[in-house]
Amino acid sequence: MLINLTLSDIATIVGGRLIGDDAVVSEVSTDSRDDLCGKLFVALVGERFNGNEFASLAIAQGATAVLVSEEVDVKPRIQVADTAQAYRAIAKHIRRAFQHPVVAITGSNGKTSVKDWLSQALSTDAVTLKTQSNLNNQIGVPKTLLGLAADHQYAVIEAGTSFPGEIEILGSTIEADVVVLTNASGSHLQGFGSIQGIAVEKGKLIETARPNASVVLNADDPSYSYWLRLLAERSLLSFSFHDHEATLFAKDMQETVGGSQTTLIYQDESFQLKLDRPGKHHVANAMAVALAMVALGFEFERIINSLKHPEQVPGRMELVPTKSEAVVINDCYNASPKSVEAAIDVLSLYKQHTKWMVLGALGELGDQEIAIHEALGKYAAKAGVDRLVTIGPVAKFAAEGFSNNIKSEQQLYACHSKNEALELLSTLDAEHVILVKGSRSAKMEDIVNALKI
Ligand code: ATP
Ligand code: MG
Repeated sequence: MLINLTLSDIATIVGGRLIGDDAVVSEVSTDSRDDLCGKLFVALVGERFNGNEFASLAIAQGATAVLVSEEVDVKPRIQVADTAQAYRAIAKHIRRAFQHPVVAITGSNGKTSVKDWLSQALSTDAVTLKTQSNLNNQIGVPKTLLGLAADHQYAVIEAGTSFPGEIEILGSTIEADVVVLTNASGSHLQGFGSIQGIAVEKGKLIETARPNASVVLNADDPSYSYWLRLLAERSLLSFSFHDHEATLFAKDMQETVGGSQTTLIYQDESFQLKLDRPGKHHVANAMAVALAMVALGFEFERIINSLKHPEQVPGRMELVPTKSEAVVINDCYNASPKSVEAAIDVLSLYKQHTKWMVLGALGELGDQEIAIHEALGKYAAKAGVDRLVTIGPVAKFAAEGFSNNIKSEQQLYACHSKNEALELLSTLDAEHVILVKGSRSAKMEDIVNALKI
């Protein structure tokens, strides 16, 4: 985006000191490999890199100026104490100049799904800026906001968190007009201590939103009543599968492997939501998207028509053809306890197939690691998973939860390695469906890649 700010303006915005001649910069970049002509190079400092070391290179490559936190011998430069904070301050300045609605999305699961789906629905009538892929952190959020351009009519921003306080930092940069909070569950428990800790963290997106913002909440989430207390003057739009009083109420959901059909009640009128992919979580995400669109002023009929096709993101409940003709459901992009349950729910729709689940470890669960894996094993057993294959010592705790709850026809394979699992899986034919799931760190795509055509 063309920011066209003078260096002295930027120094004021970031609370820094301009050393050298003033000039106008057209854009901001944090990557010394970019074409830097006319741009301000912001020297971010990470665990493995120090952008300050690239300041002279940036100028040599045509950058108009640099923004640094160390005493480098380069001019013009804006000297600050913390370059990441300065980067956010510039992004916030640009965001404040943007006159159209900014939607911010957080939650333990479904952020990217809701972000992509909402942006897709909005993009049919209006140019919409969205977070690219999963760039939802302290670098990604300002980077996205710095992409705001004059022709954008909406911005849809994903905010993630990996430590307490991060959402507050991101939220106060975004200053959302519409907040969507999908849910709070035990993903990334490590560092937050408890579900309540996660709920408090996610709730910061409400507290940092504009005072007149609209807030979309999941009324079925255990943290709902806590989030309600954070609303102040902001308006509430709630969705639920249980509460008739919610703004949007879903009932009579019917699912097959080909999709789902649900009756949605909005303002006493009923609407049929037909989705071409199964999974209750898609219906929940559809409701979140719908209410965000209500907040943006769309008619409900128009909203329903734009929601037919949940975005297919690679590695997320993706159907993959295999050499042996078994059906593989590739959901190994990442895993949290709730998303494992959601995936098992879809697997259990394959009533005519032998249902296999291949589970790698879930990471970042702290001292809940054993209990959560055991509970997932139990969930799989109760949901009728016919064969559970666990890989490695952590996922094996799920095997224990499974073995304590199975009927005689269900079987368990606690494997040491992926190769051991592949020996079992590679011969399965079209009568079998295999769900492959695990955290990013478990790299369960190795299994999918070995099986696929
Ligand atoms: P990340 O923290 O990796 O950014 P995210 O919150 O952006 O995750 P998605 O990428 O949309 O989430 O989805 C991640 C996983 O969660 C997928 O496996 C998907 O099937 C599942 N999922 C999506 N929406 C929900 C939901 N509302 N409830 C439970 N699981 C969901
Ligand atoms: Mg995401």
